[in-house]
Amino acid sequence: MDVYAIGLRNRFRGITVREGVLLHGPAGWGEFCPFAEYSDAECLPWLAAAVEASERGWPEPVRDRVAVNTTVPVVPPERAHELVAASGCRTAKVKVADPRSPLAGDCDRVAAVRDALGPAGAIRVDANAAWDVETAVAAITALDKAAGGLEYVEQPCPSVEELAAVRRRVGVRIAADESIRRAEDPLRVAVAGAADVAVLKVAPLGGVRRALAVAEACGLPCVVSSAVETSVGLAAGLALAGALPTLDFACGLGTISLLEGDVTSQPLSPVDGYLPVPRHAPAPDRYADFAAGEAARAWWLDRLDRVRAG
Ligand SMILES: [Mg+2]
Repeated sequence: MDVYAIGLRNRFRGITVREGVLLHGPAGWGEFCPFAEYSDAECLPWLAAAVEASERGWPEPVRDRVAVNTTVPVVPPERAHELVAASGCRTAKVKVADPRSPLAGDCDRVAAVRDALGPAGAIRVDANAAWDVETAVAAITALDKAAGGLEYVEQPCPSVEELAAVRRRVGVRIAADESIRRAEDPLRVAVAGAADVAVLKVAPLGGVRRALAVAEACGLPCVVSSAVETSVGLAAGLALAGALPTLDFACGLGTISLLEGDVTSQPLSPVDGYLPVPRHAPAPDRYADFAAGEAARAWWLDRLDRVRAG
């Protein structure tokens, strides 16, 4: 078992280093990397996903490549334009509602992204649950206009009830991201009429097969997103995106560039806005460059033992 520690290019969820364990089994490699604050019980589906990848492998895909979005952080409009033009992606996810960025700045950034993508490109915005209902309705209306049409708005408000209220009042699709952390959540979101799109992540849902079942049960169009894993974990996300019966939106799996390195010499980096659907995770042949220190290694192996013991 290999415990890795890789720096993040930008702070994410308050952390600067991503850590996790790579598991090897008869089917290949899996990644176990729940965030540090998660309880052992919350880690269980993450372990199930890693065990699926390493012991069993994934179901047959129905497509061999997946379109991915580029992500535009809170940067000036000129920089946003450059990032999108250089990405090769036809879909951009623009971060909005940051405390450092007023709505007018978000609108300018979104307009610059439209200019870079052209009329055929798709723009989604992600508010990371920052708005209340009234603020969301006003902001979505303004951003939709500035973008010349938004594909969807990701998690405008914190609660499922607020998402449903916003959805009744705007003409833009609502996507649920933070509202989906456990396998039962997508169904709850769908029943509440809270979203048009479900953002799914393999590890918190307990693996590719369980995520496929969740997607079918909730009946919503799905977007597969990463939890900022190495390419070993991203491969599982691509296996899910590759196996969904329908996939109408670009996925949030082009995230390897958020890490300062990767455990493999064959990283899953998008080319022309697409990633391949791999049959196995790439072998972590560069693991030695990112081996965690003794203390982190002991912490992770102890955590893994506890979660395994249930
Ligand atoms: Mg999001």
